[in-house]
Amino acid sequence: MTEDERIRFELHAHTDASDGLDTARELLDKAREAGIEYLAITDHDTVEGYLAAERHLISDAAGLRGAEDAPANTMARPLQLIPGIEISSQYEGRDVHMLGYYFDPTHEPLLDKLEQARLRRTERSAHMAEALRHDGYPVSVELLDERGMTINRTNIARLLIQGGVVDSIDQAFATLLGDDAKYYVDREDISSIEAIELIISAGGLPVIAHPHLYRVDDLIEPLAEHGLRGVEAYHIEHSAFDAARLAHEAQRSGLLVTGGSDWHGDQLHGASLGASLLPQRYLEEFLAADPRA
Ligand code: AMP
Ligand code: MN
Ligand code: MN
Ligand code: MN
Repeated sequence: MTEDERIRFELHAHTDASDGLDTARELLDKAREAGIEYLAITDHDTVEGYLAAERHLISDAAGLRGAEDAPANTMARPLQLIPGIEISSQYEGRDVHMLGYYFDPTHEPLLDKLEQARLRRTERSAHMAEALRHDGYPVSVELLDERGMTINRTNIARLLIQGGVVDSIDQAFATLLGDDAKYYVDREDISSIEAIELIISAGGLPVIAHPHLYRVDDLIEPLAEHGLRGVEAYHIEHSAFDAARLAHEAQRSGLLVTGGSDWHGDQLHGASLGASLLPQRYLEEFLAADPRA
């Protein structure tokens, strides 16, 4: 296959509706510039970024956007959006991030659960921000609001960088915000089984996110018994060896294999948009598994 024939894609990306930096418009433009044909916006707990991107696509197709505002390198093949989500969940006390794809983004029971999850995330992050502010760190809910930043741990880390407290998001998590750090506040998440069932009930495919990064490789098998359909084997923080091993195990269990860069618009995870090393045959199987087709 030549470089031109390769399907370009991004199956794991965040907008500023959750903890990414790009607006939906910016992400769409970057994706087009990178020649991406399939883009799944997988924000934490919200489909607002996806819905905004969908509206932009429709108005672009209708020619409502001035030519001077359009990105220079508009690709011949149009970009397709895949509905996506990343849900934080728990299985026997362990954190599991569950990706969902191809679901109906207007499915009310899903939207209700996502709203509850957003409230829990906002509340816990606000507690963390206030405890940091109390101890003199340049962080507060007001500051997040002022800068138009959604209230979450990643954006608190960005405020700590802007305030000169730490040099990187990783350092902020390692010293102040991580699960073992002083300012960490726990949060109740839905169970992984409930997350799987919710995605399926909305017509989608549940895929476990970065299992090796979260040290939950051993949960793939039990979760598959509850309807898990795929494994994000290829992730920027998985070695090539681990990705290939996970892909092999997933295929053997009849699961789909996916990959994405976990793009957040900045240094987080060190990825660049569309940079996943997921082999094309897995991508093609994933695209062919679209239940809406
Ligand atoms: P939460 O749902 O609060 O666990 O936060 C999830 C998001 O926070 C992840 O998707 C990352 O963007 C970020 N995050 C969590 N842990 C870390 C870490 N150790 N280093 C950097 N970012 C992290
Ligand atoms: Mn994130
Ligand atoms: Mn994640
Ligand atoms: Mn993510």
